[in-house]
Amino acid sequence: MKKGIAASRGYAIGHVIIKEDVDITITDAKVENVESEKNRLDKALEISKNQIEKVKEKALKNMGEDKAAVFESHIMLLEDPEFIGAIEMEITNNNTNAEKAVKDISDSFLAIFESMEDEYMRERAADVKDVSNRILLNLLGKMSGIEITENNTILVAHDLTPSDTAQLDKEKVIAFLTNIGGRTSHSAIMARTLEIPAIVGMNDITSSVKNGDLLIVDGIEGNVIVNPDDETIKLYERKVEEYKEEVEGLKRLIEVKTCTKSGKRIDVAGNIGKSEDVHKVIENGADGIGLFRTEFLYMDRDNLPTEEEQFESYKYVLEKMEGKPVVIRTLDIGGDKKLSYLPLPEEMNPFLGYRAIRLCLDRIDIFKVQLRALLRASVFGNLKVMFPMIASLDEFLKAKAVVDECKAELKSEGKEYSEEIEWGIMVEIPAAAVCADELAKYVDFFSIGTNDLIQYTLAADRMSEKVSYLYNPMHPAVLSLIKMTIDGAHNHGKWCGMCGEMAGDETAIPTLVSYGLDEFSMSASSILRAKQIIINQD
Ligand code: PEP
Ligand code: MG
Repeated sequence: MKKGIAASRGYAIGHVIIKEDVDITITDAKVENVESEKNRLDKALEISKNQIEKVKEKALKNMGEDKAAVFESHIMLLEDPEFIGAIEMEITNNNTNAEKAVKDISDSFLAIFESMEDEYMRERAADVKDVSNRILLNLLGKMSGIEITENNTILVAHDLTPSDTAQLDKEKVIAFLTNIGGRTSHSAIMARTLEIPAIVGMNDITSSVKNGDLLIVDGIEGNVIVNPDDETIKLYERKVEEYKEEVEGLKRLIEVKTCTKSGKRIDVAGNIGKSEDVHKVIENGADGIGLFRTEFLYMDRDNLPTEEEQFESYKYVLEKMEGKPVVIRTLDIGGDKKLSYLPLPEEMNPFLGYRAIRLCLDRIDIFKVQLRALLRASVFGNLKVMFPMIASLDEFLKAKAVVDECKAELKSEGKEYSEEIEWGIMVEIPAAAVCADELAKYVDFFSIGTNDLIQYTLAADRMSEKVSYLYNPMHPAVLSLIKMTIDGAHNHGKWCGMCGEMAGDETAIPTLVSYGLDEFSMSASSILRAKQIIINQD
């Protein structure tokens, strides 16, 4: 049996697919047999085409026709006589090996597309890059990304980026396991959103299992059993059933408003990363959205989302929540969340560096697009906005000044926004917790981000399994900062929520209720269990 950090509840029984870290290193060797090199190329093109057909079908099913059209253009590129012809010529004329020919020709196509005036044509550069990488991987005999086509797959990887996780197809991938990561790394959080079991921080799981192995994943205890015997399989099949029944049983709490025994009303809200996640939150009977991590709108694409695109996403969530509070957090990029098209400076400590509000106050151009979209969407529901990683009052006031600029612009353009929006901050840096009593005079609310607050308080990286023994939400220093934050808010008549993973932690909830926390926000899959615990508190 192998052990790791249980990151998302549930059980799964399925077969392993290992996600290899793809290394596209190309050697510059000359070839003698030009014909056989062209045959290699043809084969790689054919495999690439089949793969893209499958991705296209999946996209059509999951995301609709317009997203699927991208893959049609990828197939066209694979068959484009100019592109493929140039690669073949390079092999024939210069005895270049197929990999180097693909790389050189696609680089020259890329340069042409990238220098074009027309935005649409410039965007085609991303398609050329995508298609040529796929051909290269197939020439090198490597699997690209995580296009899983098998049912009942247990995905095993050294690590999964948040955008890898966001792309997982729940129909096929029933659990995942990673060598590195902690309970609050973003891929773990995404697993809870997807409601699939996950175990992280397993150290060497990629080398201790092989493709095709049968595994039992116990996402409650953090255990993995490799190639179990029949008796163990039967035992876990029963557990799978019991778990399903337990989850069914909790559904009685969907409509229940959560009050403690002494009658204090407590809001139990959901965390989302994409606008479609709102449905899961509603299904689980949430009182609102306590955290919309908007950075996911910026991922899995080649450029920044426009004001219009963001406006549509925020409006969608606000309308679906029908007047219930929706707390949207402004862009929190940096740390483990990166954007391919927005290179950030290399830093020794990215979690302590240029991220979140620090980046937004430096890139006002990016920040304003989001604020304008939020302001415009505010008329469609009950919007509250919060800024991440606030360390000082000055940052909050600067952010509010940018909000005022955006309001003035919208007013002069005759565009509507609500004056009722509440403006808050995430308390996730110890300095903010210590200064909560002062900050509370200026903000409308606090939301405690324990994922970061714990790592900064204990100097224990939330991503590191090696120091996970230190990463303890119940450490007295962490509890004391939480209490200070809640008291600070209440002293000035403000409310205080929590949107870090601790809010859904069954062992922590009773203490947080006793401290007077007003709102708990968590992954949709934790909501009903949390409700049950809260209604049993005094
Ligand atoms: C947190 O830090 O607790 C939080 C909710 O933000 P994120 O996990 O996105 O950093
Ligand atoms: Mg955080």
